[in-house]
Amino acid sequence: MNIALIAHDKKKDDLIRFVLAYQPIFEQHSLFATGTTGTRITTETGLPVHRFRSGPLGGDQEIGAYIANDKMDLVLFFRDPLTAQPHEPDVSALIRLCDVYCVPLATNMGSAEVLVKGLERGDIEWRSIINGNE
Ligand code: PGA
Repeated sequence: MNIALIAHDKKKDDLIRFVLAYQPIFEQHSLFATGTTGTRITTETGLPVHRFRSGPLGGDQEIGAYIANDKMDLVLFFRDPLTAQPHEPDVSALIRLCDVYCVPLATNMGSAEVLVKGLERGDIEWRSIINGNE
């Protein structure tokens, strides 16, 4: 499965801890991330990550393009709801595309935990019917 990992600045530490906690699951999949998030994941967990541009510079839109082409199976987006983001329209567009294409999306750690456990159990296998992924 192709998994997108994104975290706003104040949520990046949480995402790193989350990836470390579920590393045995994540290492079985292909990881994608916005620029700064991706750099931190690679540096601090050692997992390979395909990095897009930084979120404010278009990274969220790049991930959106993958979603629109059925190339993203799961999106874990640790949003910061208490800080204004210059690229808020991109964030909304990304979330909207997940809804358009029925891509499982978590916007906080609580729901991300449920989705990752579901991923481990095979609950998202239906995605491979859509995109032919292994
Ligand atoms: P970043 O982007 O990983 O490059 O910080 C995340 C975002 O703010 O969308």
